Amino acid sequence: GTARIAVTGLATMGSNLARNLARHGYKVAVHNRSFARTKALIEQHGHEGDFVPAETTAELVASLQRPRQVIIMVKAGGPTDAVIDELAEAMEPGDMIIDGGNAHFADTRRREAALKERGLHFVGTGISGGEEGALNGPSIMPGGSVESYKHLGPVLEDIAAKVDGEPCCVHVGPDGAGHFVKMVHNGIEYADMQLIAESYDLLRRAGGLEPSAIADVFRTWNSGDLESYLVEITAEVLGHVDAETGKPFVDIITDQAEQKGTGRWTVQEALELGIPVTGIAEAVFARSLSARVDQRSALQSTSDTPVQVPETLVDDVRAALYASKVVAYAQGFDQMRAASEQYDWNIDLGAMATIWRGGCIIRAVFLNRIREAYEKTPDLSSLLVDDYFRTAVENAVDAWRRVVTTAVQAGVPVPGFSSALAYYDALRSERLPAALIQGLRDFFGAHTYRRVDKDGSFHTLWGADRNEIDA
Ligand code: NDP
Repeated sequence: GTARIAVTGLATMGSNLARNLARHGYKVAVHNRSFARTKALIEQHGHEGDFVPAETTAELVASLQRPRQVIIMVKAGGPTDAVIDELAEAMEPGDMIIDGGNAHFADTRRREAALKERGLHFVGTGISGGEEGALNGPSIMPGGSVESYKHLGPVLEDIAAKVDGEPCCVHVGPDGAGHFVKMVHNGIEYADMQLIAESYDLLRRAGGLEPSAIADVFRTWNSGDLESYLVEITAEVLGHVDAETGKPFVDIITDQAEQKGTGRWTVQEALELGIPVTGIAEAVFARSLSARVDQRSALQSTSDTPVQVPETLVDDVRAALYASKVVAYAQGFDQMRAASEQYDWNIDLGAMATIWRGGCIIRAVFLNRIREAYEKTPDLSSLLVDDYFRTAVENAVDAWRRVVTTAVQAGVPVPGFSSALAYYDALRSERLPAALIQGLRDFFGAHTYRRVDKDGSFHTLWGADRNEIDA
C-alpha cells in the first residue's frame, strides 16, 4: 500500500479529519461502514488532496504503508469495539489503531491492553474542537505508547491547531491518559459555560440588563484576562435576534440543557479519586435540574423580594466570573494530577494548558497563565497556590462576595459562583469543622481520630468513662 494514514468512520468528524490530513499533503485512505459516505466525500472533496477510497476493511488495510495507522471516528461504545475487532483481524504486529472518538478512558485502557497482547498499538486520543476544529485544526490529546507517538506524533502535530507556532498536540501519556484529559477538558467546559450562564442570569435578573446590552458587556470582557472563545460566542448568541419573532434569540430557546455524558464521567471519576471538582459537579447538576420540568413548573413563582443591587454589579460579576473560573480550572487540573499519580501517566500539566490554547472549545488567553504557573513550579499543588492566580483571586474576592450576596438576596441561583467561593474559603480556613466530623465519627462508630498535639490514633470511650485510649 501507499497511503500514509487512514480514517474509518466518515460522518462529520471523520470526513473533516480526513480532509484536514489530505490538505496537509498526506495520502489518506478513507473508509466507512456504508460506502455511500465514502463516495460522497470523494465526490465533494476529492479535489482537496490525495484520497484512497476503500470499500472494505481488508481493502483499507491493504492500501496502507507499514506500520499501518488507522484512525477510527465512529460512535463511541459498541461500534468502536466492532471496528477495532475488524481492523485487528486484518492488521499485523507493529500496526496502530487510533481511536479519535469520545471513548471512556477505562474502555481505552482495556482496549490498549488487549491489542498489546496481539502486538498492535492502540492509541486513544482526545480530539476537541467539533467539526470546525477537525477540519481546520483541532486540539489533539493522544495517549498510547511512546513508540506509537514516534510514528503518529508528527502527523497529528501537523494537522493540529497552532498557537504562536506551537502545535496544540502533545503525547499526553500511556494507555488512557489522552482520553482522560479530554474528559476533564469537557468537564471544565461544562463549568466554564455554567459560570458564563450565571453571569448572564445575574446581569439580566438582578441588573435589569437586556440580552443585547449583556452581549456588549461580554464583548468588552473578551479582552484582557477573560479573552476566550466561549466569552466571544456568548456575545454572539446573546446579541442574536430571532428572525421569526423579533425577540432575543435566547428567549425563544427551551431552557433545558442537554448533555452527552463527558461531564458526568468527569464527576464520577473525581468521586473515585476523591478530588473535589465542585464547580464541574454543580455545572452537571445544574443541567440536570434545568430538565426537571415537572418540579420547576410546580414551584414557579415571582415573589422574590426586591434587592439593593450594587452599582458596581457589572464589574463585580466580571471579577466573580474570573475568580470562579480559576477555581474550576484549579479543580480540573487537580483531578488530572491525581489521575496521573493513580495510573502512572506522568502527565505534564503545563503541556495540557499549552495544547488547549487553540482548536478546542475552552481555548483562552488565560491558559498561558496556567502554562506559566506549571513552568515555574512543575509540581504545583494547586493553581490557587501560584503567585499570579493567588493574587488575582485575592483581588477579586470582595467583588465575588458581593455578587454571591446579591444573587442570594435576589433569588438568582449561582451554584457555580457560590460553590467556587466556598471551595476557596475552605482552602483558606485555618481550621475546618472536619474536626467536629471526626469527633462525631469517633462517637458513633469508634472510627478514631488524630490529635493536633501528638502522633498516633486515638479513641474516646464515649459510652463509659470518656477516657481517651490509644487506638
Ligand atoms: P457519529 O458519532 O454520529 O457516528 C457516525 C459514524 O459511526 C458513521 O460513520 C457510522 O457509519 C459509524 N458507525 C456507527 N455504528 C457503527 C458500527 N457498528 N460499525 C461501523 N461503523 C459504525 O459521528 P461524529 O462524526 O459526530 O463523531 C465521531 C466520533 O467523534 C464520536 O465518537 C464522537 O463522540 C467523537 N467526537 C465528536 C465531536 C463532535 O463535535 N461531533 C467532537 C469530538 C469527538 P454509517 O455511516 O455506516 O452509519
